[in-house]
Amino acid sequence: MARLSYQVIGTMLQALADYGRTPEGGVTRYSFTDEDAKARELVIKWMKQCDMSVRIDQAGNIIGRYGSEDGPAVAMGSHIDSVPNGGIFDGPLGVTIALAVVKKMHELGIKPKIPLEVIVFSDEEGARFGGGLFGSKVMTGILEEQTISRTDANGISAAQALRASGHDPENLDQAKRDPSELKAYLEVHIEQAHVLESNETGVGIVKGIAGPVHFLAEFSGRADHAGATPMTMRKDALLGACEAALAAEEIASRAGDTTVATVGKMEVSPGATNVIAGKALISFDIRDINLTDREWAVMEVKQELQEIAKKRDLGLDIIELSSVPPVQLNSNLVHLCETTAAELGIKTLTMISGAAHDAMNMTLLTDVVMLFVRSKDGLSHCPEEYSYPDDIEDAANLLYEVVMKLSNG
Ligand SMILES: [Zn+2]
Repeated sequence: MARLSYQVIGTMLQALADYGRTPEGGVTRYSFTDEDAKARELVIKWMKQCDMSVRIDQAGNIIGRYGSEDGPAVAMGSHIDSVPNGGIFDGPLGVTIALAVVKKMHELGIKPKIPLEVIVFSDEEGARFGGGLFGSKVMTGILEEQTISRTDANGISAAQALRASGHDPENLDQAKRDPSELKAYLEVHIEQAHVLESNETGVGIVKGIAGPVHFLAEFSGRADHAGATPMTMRKDALLGACEAALAAEEIASRAGDTTVATVGKMEVSPGATNVIAGKALISFDIRDINLTDREWAVMEVKQELQEIAKKRDLGLDIIELSSVPPVQLNSNLVHLCETTAAELGIKTLTMISGAAHDAMNMTLLTDVVMLFVRSKDGLSHCPEEYSYPDDIEDAANLLYEVVMKLSNG
């Protein structure tokens, strides 16, 4: 059996990290910048070395193809843009493992019955213009119209940046693909959490991606003097917000096994030591792979907000931000990954992803599965982000065998 070694992948990862490397050992590589262009050139060079045909769509997605130009392909991929001072694995790992799979087949002279694709999605992180998952949204036809008018810190719009990089923001529709072009999509990504580490497992098989609901709650009370106002005469907006944050924690723990709720932001005004808070704004992020449990938790939290406001005699405004449905990945592919891992003697854990990925959008086009690679200490989006060579090698070999079965079976 052909074995992929970490060496090939590690060398590519380090080469990509040279573009945008930070003094802390991380990487800052925003989309459609010089660093991004150089990293993309390198990926295209590697694709061509494996006799892949390469095309770039109007959204800047790179699509390398190995084997026949006709018929649906088994696609793999991820992204190579980063967050500011992020890690070198988030995104590039999926791209370099996919390239290593093709490289191995190319070395062995294997021409797959079903062609392979390696897709590098553009602007996954959304670090420059906000948003995120840009390339896969365009490819699946779900990009929000306002996205390309968003500007970066220098006032350059996404449309301008796309144009400057040789793409055509007026004709993004051309990048939309038809389900008939793809047979499956497989993405390897770092886990970005502690689940694999705490289970002492190197590789995860992702069966679903949790969708987040985001909303804000603003409590309004009265900004009175902290010394002169007796405890019985206060309308303290901050205490309402604190109670609401604790309620969200409690509700999430009573909801489904996979429900999570987070209050990550709180803004208090006037924000002075000696003034009772007149206003408090808090954010909610509630996620689950199970839509029913998530909706139950959202409803419970909103009911609790009303009750807290009533009890404390506070005003309450709820501001809806976004709601992304959770997605189930393809159960046949999950099963195929599980049985193949068992054949290879690779220990895996079937799990859900709490973070969004391009793979989520690709479910609109084709059957999708993701593989996660253990993140040391659960860290990501920082220079300390790290995955172990042995885990990377296991994920690569699992992907290789699964892709062999899908493309030659
Ligand atoms: Zn990523």
